Amino acid sequence: MLDPKDWEAFRDQAHRALDAAFDALETVRDRPVWQPVPSDVRATFETPMPHEATSLGDVIAEFRRTIAPYPTGNQHPRFFGWVHGSATPSAALADALAALFDANVGGRDHAAVYVERQVVRWFAGLFGLPQSAGGLCTVGSSAANLLAIVAARGRAGAETGMVGYTSAAAHGSIRKAFETAGLGAAALRAIPADAEHRIDVAELERTIARDRVDGLRPFVLVGCAGTVGVGATDPLDALATIAAREGLWFHVDGAFGALTALAPSLRETVRGIERADSIAFDFHKWLRVPYDAGCLIARDATRLTDTFSAEGAYLSRAERGPGAGSPWFADLGIDLSRGFRALKVWFALKEHGADALGASIEHNVALAQRLRALVDADPSLERLAPVPLNIVCFRYRKPGLEGAALDAFTDELAIRIAESGRAVVSTLPLPRGKALRVCLTNHRTEEADLDELLAAVRACANA
Ligand SMILES: *Cc1c(COP(=O)(O)O)cnc(C)c1O
Repeated sequence: MLDPKDWEAFRDQAHRALDAAFDALETVRDRPVWQPVPSDVRATFETPMPHEATSLGDVIAEFRRTIAPYPTGNQHPRFFGWVHGSATPSAALADALAALFDANVGGRDHAAVYVERQVVRWFAGLFGLPQSAGGLCTVGSSAANLLAIVAARGRAGAETGMVGYTSAAAHGSIRKAFETAGLGAAALRAIPADAEHRIDVAELERTIARDRVDGLRPFVLVGCAGTVGVGATDPLDALATIAAREGLWFHVDGAFGALTALAPSLRETVRGIERADSIAFDFHKWLRVPYDAGCLIARDATRLTDTFSAEGAYLSRAERGPGAGSPWFADLGIDLSRGFRALKVWFALKEHGADALGASIEHNVALAQRLRALVDADPSLERLAPVPLNIVCFRYRKPGLEGAALDAFTDELAIRIAESGRAVVSTLPLPRGKALRVCLTNHRTEEADLDELLAAVRACANA
């Protein structure tokens, strides 16, 4: 009763909806990067649950009227805010195919399981992890970081006084993971970062020693590959050495930065990642696949199954038949039912090849270095942080403004730029003041977009 009565008519409608979505993508440059959702459109999302049917054509028309025109903006080449990925049309198509295939990849024996295992193996190999490595696709790096912290705690034994270490520049999901795991945010030591936004290794060692004297039990060290602020990478090799000496689980949060391993000219950035006990990273930020897809890989898959094994009477395993294939992905994380996130990653790697994906990451980094030079050459602009990777932080020097007033102006400027529809940037508080933060993770961005961005900054600053 719920399937199409007339498959021909359904196909026709579906094909036209897909065409409209491809048209929108092909012409994304011609539209504002972002625009607010008008109040009359917002009001349509307040209507009660419909009990009567609407034709599919009308539902699609409503989507095109009330939803499609108001995107986040991340598909646009001049969306530079936060760390947002942009998907290729074919990776998005793969996600649509995955939805039509409707696999539950919690476990059992079917093709989707083999695809996800292959994707995990590919990246374990890329990072230089041993054959024993295993892992799974997650919603994103927040989930992957949480699983790593829980597994690390499980391995250390649930004792009291457990403490972990990361850089003060680490992503908030690490603190959230400590909270969610029941360890509490106070159990996470935020070690100060240096002028390059990398963890202060000497201070880390002093803090661990002090905690041991105080009878606490250090269990995990989280290194950053690409901090969310300025894109800095901790000295992973040095951290691995400390973790080994201290008997700590060494986790790397490489949400976007870990993928520099795909780019020959950038690979050195993550030297030492091959010594990690676990690595969290995202496909949806820098691998050109649509939201959502992250990944957790542990150096030894049994480190995950030891904590998350989901065997139960109703999930009993078999040697043959659909109940085979143990361990299941449900044994490696917290979700039992899980979608087929790996398919779009598998498509992207097959269609483009790892080298082209790495080259597009290199291109983003080259553009960031170009923007850095443009900022440094313009006396009305002031750079506020180093540019180790793909993020540039600067402000417009508004004559007569300084301190808190200049910070407030910078916040206002970021909003004005977004409202102009010409670009989207985010802001970041830095020691020298509030910065406009420009993050390059979109494969459509070209050099001319940097000029247009700076033109928008100047125009909005003087509006
Ligand atoms: C984005 C990000 C995260 C969180 O990843 P999600 O995929 O958004 O959950 C964690 N760490 C860093 C460094 C990030 O940039």
